[in-house]
Amino acid sequence: MRMTILHGTRDIRIEERDDPTILESTDAIIRLAATCICGSDLWPYRGIEEVSSPTPMGHEYCGVVEDVGSAVQSVKSGQFVVGSFATSDNTCANCRYGYQSSCVHRDFITRAQAPRLRVPLADGTLVPTRTRLR
Ligand SMILES: [Zn+2]
Repeated sequence: MRMTILHGTRDIRIEERDDPTILESTDAIIRLAATCICGSDLWPYRGIEEVSSPTPMGHEYCGVVEDVGSAVQSVKSGQFVVGSFATSDNTCANCRYGYQSSCVHRDFITRAQAPRLRVPLADGTLVPTRTRLR
């Protein structure tokens, strides 16, 4: 699939990468409906932050769930979901107190400027809507 890759200051390229797959039982794969450019994408684009290696872009997104790992319970195939830029398990003390962005298992999403995205810790990271699409 094609995705945006930041190579350096004002150097964004569209390149082929492998489609995402379920790697952990807590993963989901979503087909992206929309993604955007965040202000934090612009710092390295402008050269204010160094780009040390080609970096897939995109961490704000929404889309339709295509597949889920065996442990995922809160989202199902066909559901429209909104995702967080930070992954969260929704079970640690920080998550239970409402600070999912400080989850002890937090990681940051990249690669959302593409047709499909692997979302780790899907139960905490994705918010399902009532809309079901195919
Ligand atoms: Zn947590």
